Amino acid sequence: MKSGWVERDAETLVALGANSGIERDFALRIYTTRLLGSDRKLVLHGGGNTSLKTRARDRLGEEVDVLRVKASGADMAVIEPDGMPAVRLSGLRELRVLDAIADEDLVGIERANLLDPAAPNPSVEVMLHAFLPHKFIDHTHASAVLSVIDQPDGEKKCADVFAGRLAFVPYLMPGFGLAKKAIEVFERAKPSDGLILSKHGIVTFGDSTREAYERMIEMVTLAENFLARHRKSIAAAPAACSTAAVDEIAPIVRGSCSEKDDKTEGAWRRMVLEYRRREAILDFLKATDLGRLSETGVVTPDHTIRTKNRPLVLPHPETGKLGDFAGAARQAADAFTARYRDYFARHNTRVGGGKHELDPLPRVVLVPGLGLFGLGSTKQDAVIAADIAEEWMAVVAGAESIGRFESISEADMFDCEYWPLEQAKLGARKEPPLAGQIAAITGAAGAIGAATARAFAAAGAEIALLDVNLAVARDQAKTIGPTALPLQCDVTDAASVDGAFEKIAAHFGGVDIAVSNAGAAWQGRIGEVDEDILRKSFELNFYGHQRVAQAAVKIMLAQGTGGCLLFNVSKQAVNPGPNFGPYGIPKAAALALMRQYALDYGADGIRANAVNADRIRSGLLTPEMIASRARARGLSEQDYMSGNLLGREVTADDVAQAFLHHALALKTTADVTTVDGGNIAAAMR
Ligand SMILES: [Zn+2]
Repeated sequence: MKSGWVERDAETLVALGANSGIERDFALRIYTTRLLGSDRKLVLHGGGNTSLKTRARDRLGEEVDVLRVKASGADMAVIEPDGMPAVRLSGLRELRVLDAIADEDLVGIERANLLDPAAPNPSVEVMLHAFLPHKFIDHTHASAVLSVIDQPDGEKKCADVFAGRLAFVPYLMPGFGLAKKAIEVFERAKPSDGLILSKHGIVTFGDSTREAYERMIEMVTLAENFLARHRKSIAAAPAACSTAAVDEIAPIVRGSCSEKDDKTEGAWRRMVLEYRRREAILDFLKATDLGRLSETGVVTPDHTIRTKNRPLVLPHPETGKLGDFAGAARQAADAFTARYRDYFARHNTRVGGGKHELDPLPRVVLVPGLGLFGLGSTKQDAVIAADIAEEWMAVVAGAESIGRFESISEADMFDCEYWPLEQAKLGARKEPPLAGQIAAITGAAGAIGAATARAFAAAGAEIALLDVNLAVARDQAKTIGPTALPLQCDVTDAASVDGAFEKIAAHFGGVDIAVSNAGAAWQGRIGEVDEDILRKSFELNFYGHQRVAQAAVKIMLAQGTGGCLLFNVSKQAVNPGPNFGPYGIPKAAALALMRQYALDYGADGIRANAVNADRIRSGLLTPEMIASRARARGLSEQDYMSGNLLGREVTADDVAQAFLHHALALKTTADVTTVDGGNIAAAMR
């Protein structure tokens, strides 16, 4: 590992900081914190922390000694000065006389000593930074170091590899106890460069930020070199027969890793998936003792909040034997959740009860021959779980190549997973109503499609935006968020629809809601219209819906957790307009299609509903059309648009809300919701 220090970059940040009153040492501290944070071999997703001891003025203008330390859960790669709050050092150091302190009290004292009362909570490892005397301290969970120290003889390996430059601190969970143990070890051993925290990570220190940082790089390099010198390969099983495709397997995995929500009949707790298949992953999954490795536990304690204590391992999915795989996957997932509940119950009793059980679903699933899945209630959480799972594999493979990987005990993992200060990193989350659900929307580049995508995203769903116009779908996706997935999809082409749904299954793990919205209007007097026009309209306004529904149902059945089909049928479906037959007739067929899906798949928990909207400003009703129709009726444009019983213009957002209502109404199927401001001739009943 090479030092990333670039003198010119460091000085640029110092100059930039000077403009906003940030002292040189603090600017450089920010610089190396970012350097550490941007290397995933050192830290991942909010792990690791750094500090600086300096002086600062308090509210009364008095200069005091402070510790600036990374805020809890902050991402080092993009840290800003306000991500390193200043805490009065004396207020922390005087706590050393105590034998122990309750978590709530410690957080209270830390907050009381913040110079800025509105600052975020300091890192859970703040006391370790406070007790050590050094001006600059860096702490990471470097992969190579973990491979060396997560061993039954970690202390001996630490002495061999770091030649006494790092002192060895036995395992204690992060917090006050570990900080006290670390300062005791430091004062006794007086190491020159830093500390090893057993089964957890590495600390380096220095008189300058560059010294602390480059010592970190040097120590990690020593560990990397040791691994390279002693590496022997892990025994691999012979290659299995051919493996099924990820888009077939992901919905089965996703369905297996869901559970019924007892609070509401028909509701499920679902997960979003992130799939990875690098060569290193596939190699790891070939290990003859994958079963043992998967039982070993996390590589550093704070990973328990992201990946739980162990992954779920499924059998190799053979091509053409999806039924066998599905049966085995459900059995394995059920065993996993039963075991997690037992783990919770046993350890909750051990700590005197009072802990609130988290959901028992796996966060990492290993599928030999195929790769790994990270799981989360959002795509972002799934990505984090997958990143950590990849690092877990790298560390375990490294550890096994020089000895035997050993994690902390199950009790220690529980204490970290259920430590309120760790859970606080995940933030106080209230699950939105569509959390964990995946919605595919066709015609997503248009007004109604885009409004529906926004409404479903706001309700917590992950969104795939399908449109024949990929460029506009991409632009719409950007306005929704970083995880929205734009896809090219022509609903008049079966291969295009199937391909898009395969991509959704591979990317998110499956689909729960399909909003079949793509459509276009053709006109003509029905007795004289060219048959080609009628056929074109049927291709899009009827067969398009059928293709989308069919592709979605295939995935929903593989998941086995129900689903929701939503169709955009115009008011033309029930109230034909003059010379609008080519549009209205396939729409009427689409209404019948919705009812047929409701009938045929109700027993599978798949609901089908439609929205019957009229007169929405969109690609079907352009400003020019509005102007000409208003003129033809002798109305103003506004009066034309609000020409309904309520006298209110209906918008794409109103249609989106009707779709959202259907997605949430778990006891409603075969229903049509009218969103037209009142048109008695189009009323359903
Ligand atoms: Zn740590």
